[in-house]
Amino acid sequence: MLKIVVEQYDSVEPLGLYIHVPFCLKKCQYCDFISYPYSKAAADTYLNALFSEIELYSRGLPGWDKALASIFFGGGTPTCLPSKILTSILDRLFKVFSLLPGCEVTVEANPGTVDRQALTELRKGGVNRLSLGVQAFQGHLLGILGRIHTAAEVIETVRAARMAGFENLNLDFIFGIPGQTMEDWLETLSLAANLEPEHISVYALQLEEDTPLLQLVLQGEVQRCSEELELSLYQTAIQYLSEHGYVHYEISNFSRPGRESAHNLGYWLNRYYLGLGPGAHSYLQCGRYANDSTLDGYAVRLARGELPVSAKEVATVASEMSETMFLGLRLTSGVDLEAFYRRFGRRAEDVYRLEIMRLLKKGLVEFAGGCLRLTSVGLPLANEVFIEFV
Ligand code: SF4
Repeated sequence: MLKIVVEQYDSVEPLGLYIHVPFCLKKCQYCDFISYPYSKAAADTYLNALFSEIELYSRGLPGWDKALASIFFGGGTPTCLPSKILTSILDRLFKVFSLLPGCEVTVEANPGTVDRQALTELRKGGVNRLSLGVQAFQGHLLGILGRIHTAAEVIETVRAARMAGFENLNLDFIFGIPGQTMEDWLETLSLAANLEPEHISVYALQLEEDTPLLQLVLQGEVQRCSEELELSLYQTAIQYLSEHGYVHYEISNFSRPGRESAHNLGYWLNRYYLGLGPGAHSYLQCGRYANDSTLDGYAVRLARGELPVSAKEVATVASEMSETMFLGLRLTSGVDLEAFYRRFGRRAEDVYRLEIMRLLKKGLVEFAGGCLRLTSVGLPLANEVFIEFV
């Protein structure tokens, strides 16, 4: 596999790097991600394997420029690991990969898992963006979600992050939580804006199979948010955050001008990325790869000196064009049609003529500024649009 990467990867292409940290202090009620309770022994297994994986990529990609546009520690809860460990991973990465100027280095953290000292160590170690999983400010909603923190801890963590020198903060929120009212959501948006983060993400709650929260809904213990309320909560977020200086640049994401997430922009622009850690995905010129999603499987493969890839899908021009369309349409600016032509030598308007005509007729997309983008009607119906390009 590695050989294919070496032979086919374009050495000048900047790359995003994702590192999955699969530990959490406690499982949230709505979460279906693979994560493990944090323990020192499990963390040691993970770290040994992760350093081996970094080592394999450092040896296996000779001559490749390996210039990183972004590094993103996601999870799980990366800050389950002590800051010194996270910065030691970064130290190793800095030796193996070169960084493009202004490389964004993000760590996801949950309030209550970091204090000022830990944040200062992260900042000094090269982390320049912090993404906090806040989700809500109301105790009863945090309780339904099974989050471990309080609203006071959120405010304390944001203050500590600023004092530690973080000038780029993201706060994540969830809407459509059972029992959440419009008043709760307006209070959340107002408290969020008062904290003045550079970036805010808002996601509709997904009731995933086999989660305790779905069980509570099915047993009638809590009530699912209605579709009408969910839509109104979303539209309220767009209006409120736009009025408070945030640019709505992606379906779920808002930022101060120029503070868009560089790492996530890479995904939406369908650029290449390398994923390290159990369950991490990679997208390189030769295709998409998924690492073994279990910690044991991941560690065993690396102990044998193999890359821990358990699934791969060859990239074809057709699949790359399709992904470029439905990922790019997530951006409110839409798919840049000239960039599409430069990349594929074909015009999106020709390749997807019938699909685009159907969507134009329904009023879900429009041409604007050399791009094809979702309309305000199409925004909440984005999945209906994406499916046309799959
Ligand atoms: S902290 Fe995040 S990854 Fe961990 S259980 Fe909660 S939602 Fe899932």
